[in-house]
Amino acid sequence: MKLTKLHLPSIFTILSIFLILVAKSSSFSIKTSNFAKHFLGAKKGDKIKGLDQVRQYLIKYGYMNSVWSDHQKEDFDYTLAQAIKKYQVFNHLNSSGILDANTLAQMEMPRCGVPDFVNGTKIQHGRKLVIYGFNDSYYTFETTKWLKMNLTWALMPGTRADAQRPIAAAMANWMSVSKFHFSQSPVFQNADLQISFVSGEHGDRTRFDGPGGILAHSTFPPGGKLHFDANETWVDGARAGAFDIGTIGLHEIGHLIGLGHSNVQSAIMWPIAPLGATKGLAPDDIAGIRALYP
Ligand SMILES: [Zn+2]
Ligand SMILES: [Zn+2]
Repeated sequence: MKLTKLHLPSIFTILSIFLILVAKSSSFSIKTSNFAKHFLGAKKGDKIKGLDQVRQYLIKYGYMNSVWSDHQKEDFDYTLAQAIKKYQVFNHLNSSGILDANTLAQMEMPRCGVPDFVNGTKIQHGRKLVIYGFNDSYYTFETTKWLKMNLTWALMPGTRADAQRPIAAAMANWMSVSKFHFSQSPVFQNADLQISFVSGEHGDRTRFDGPGGILAHSTFPPGGKLHFDANETWVDGARAGAFDIGTIGLHEIGHLIGLGHSNVQSAIMWPIAPLGATKGLAPDDIAGIRALYP
């Protein structure tokens, strides 16, 4: 066919460029098995190809600042070691500053895209939390909060039908332990809390990365935006290899109303999501929302 013939060369060009790009970018990606193997045992003073992947991960989740010059990208320096220590403390790992197997495994786990530290600090009980030595730490919250307690929510028109029940249940769950009153709005654009399933670049400069990696993210008050990564396997309930919409929703709604990440692993505000399981509110989450809105 004439049309196919005409387009073949361009398709091959595009395909080969695409393959080159994929090969180049994925060799040490957080989401490949290569990642842990490549960096295992890396420590201060080492010079390692692709080390910027680790640095970018720590920058993304608020463990270090993005001040860095290009030629030092492969250097495992003091600043990086300190950021890794901070990450290890928050994640209950041995705080050696060395990229050991547990630390690398933790970095590969699917999680919420919201940083663990906003501007390098955490707000706890209304004061700045000291970065190191918070072994008994718990819920955190940001400096912004809602000034009204009646909020409307809506799912973007066309959202998968199985999201309605778990999202409504998650709203009811937070409502039962706080002063909030949530009601579902028929008009998406007017709702205080707008929930949608989106993929890749979706207009907020924080792109989703396909299966694994970042699962969802949301804004702090009064932002009101909750995005699920549409490319994950979502279900209503617990199913092997899938994420529960209600569990991740419960976590993300916590952000929408002002909570940050907790380092209590049983808390819904712990940033790592349970695969194939459901999770509910823990005493830490309830204490957090009640401290933010007494
Ligand atoms: Zn989160
Ligand atoms: Zn988004």
